[in-house]
Amino acid sequence: MAMELFNTLGSRVEPLSASENNTLRMYCCGPTVYDYGHIGNFRTFLHMDVLRRTARLKGFGLKHVMNITDVDDKIIRNATAANLPIGEYTAKYERAFFEDMDALRVERPEVIARATETIAEMVALIERLASEDIAYKAEDGSWYFRIARFPDYGKLSGKDLEGIEDGARVDVDEYEKDAARDFALWKAVKPGEHAWETPLGTGRPGWHIECSAMAMKHLGPSFDLHGGGEDLAFPHHENEIAQSECASHQPFARHWFHVRFLLVEGKKMSKSEGNFYTLRDLLLKGYRASAIRFLLVSVPYRHQMNFTFEGLTESANAIERLRTFARRIEAAGSNTALPEALNADLDALVNEKLTAYGAALDNDLNTAEARAAVFDVVRAANIALDNSSFGRGNIAPVQGVLQAFDAVFDVLTDRDADVSKAAVAWAKAEGRADIAPELLVAQSISDAEIEALIAERTDARKLRNFARGDAIRNELAEKGVLIEDGKAGVTWKRR
Ligand code: AMP
Ligand code: ZN
Repeated sequence: MAMELFNTLGSRVEPLSASENNTLRMYCCGPTVYDYGHIGNFRTFLHMDVLRRTARLKGFGLKHVMNITDVDDKIIRNATAANLPIGEYTAKYERAFFEDMDALRVERPEVIARATETIAEMVALIERLASEDIAYKAEDGSWYFRIARFPDYGKLSGKDLEGIEDGARVDVDEYEKDAARDFALWKAVKPGEHAWETPLGTGRPGWHIECSAMAMKHLGPSFDLHGGGEDLAFPHHENEIAQSECASHQPFARHWFHVRFLLVEGKKMSKSEGNFYTLRDLLLKGYRASAIRFLLVSVPYRHQMNFTFEGLTESANAIERLRTFARRIEAAGSNTALPEALNADLDALVNEKLTAYGAALDNDLNTAEARAAVFDVVRAANIALDNSSFGRGNIAPVQGVLQAFDAVFDVLTDRDADVSKAAVAWAKAEGRADIAPELLVAQSISDAEIEALIAERTDARKLRNFARGDAIRNELAEKGVLIEDGKAGVTWKRR
């Protein structure tokens, strides 16, 4: 079955297709590196990750470009306040952004493009528009895009052009502008600002032209998919389409993918509401990176998502259940008492759920249904294991489901302790006081460390060193890990 995805351009669900060699050429608006990323930003990047991983599962190759906006109004403002050159100011936040992406196991796009490294391409694009009088220079030396010259303006967001004041201009890099106006392509230098000397004059690029130039540089004038958070559809993406299509006379991106906003406890996330969280804030409160990932990807991207701490705790429990189950299936392989015969009913259910899992993802990335199909398998297989009707032949198909699940959700392998330790080290270096030590200690043992201790205990017991064996059991119990000696060897779970 084809993978279907809602296309904001045309407002309908359509099959996703690649126009060249089955390789999906996609561009996603990346972060503006003026501060640490918040969990709303990461919701968007995580769903891009779900999209890429699902596309790969469907056999697509990937050429995914993500930009780093490393020059804009906010960056200039903050760098000036910090008394740093913008490059030095943004380097810190770019590094932090990738650390956070790694912590959340978001795959790296194939190409990372920086605005400050694409200035020549932006200038060339503006010159091309100027040669057709679509870009014009204002009195202060800034360049603007004449939206009256693009009759399709509004086709993405459905804004109608009625009431546009001809020549009314906007030069700020903000998202939430309602009015359709001529927008800045190039901003003339202001005193004290970082600027580039170019044939257009001394200045710096506007925000929208950055993405057009970077997308076309790496993907050509026409490509398969363009994405970002829902706030970007207008005016950012509308403006990208206008300037790109006017310059190339070809359709820009065919498929537009927008992730709905994250709310926190029912409200818009904002510093003044006190409900504003970066990934680091949550790690320091003692929450696990895997739980944050799982929670953020489990609500389908087109649903508005309400983040709650309750949800985060449920998410951590759900992961624990999955990991315990994965170990139980693994252990079944070495259980000599396991019946040889395949449980055909269970096998039929597993196959049906695997199909349902793929179909849910194909259906506009319905991660909630996909996840539910996997939990149906967990439930049924646990029951079969409990009543000894799980056969040796059931192991591989069940593991197949877990593999397909983890290829997209990527939460089964534990790396949480390492991520949390890194967050604590960072917080100490930054002098942050808000570290929740009791929670961090509770998660300071990793699955790998538990496995190593259990192996050591097994060896000690073989050598009849029961004192050491008991000491290990107690140490694990203190860290919330329960171990059980069974037919298939030792199993364990977190309390
Ligand atoms: P920025 O760094 O502000 O340019 O934003 C990076 C990405 O995060 C963009 O694609 C935004 O649309 C997206 N974004 C910002 N706030 C939220 C939010 N609350 N929920 C989901 N995505 C968001
Ligand atoms: Zn962009």
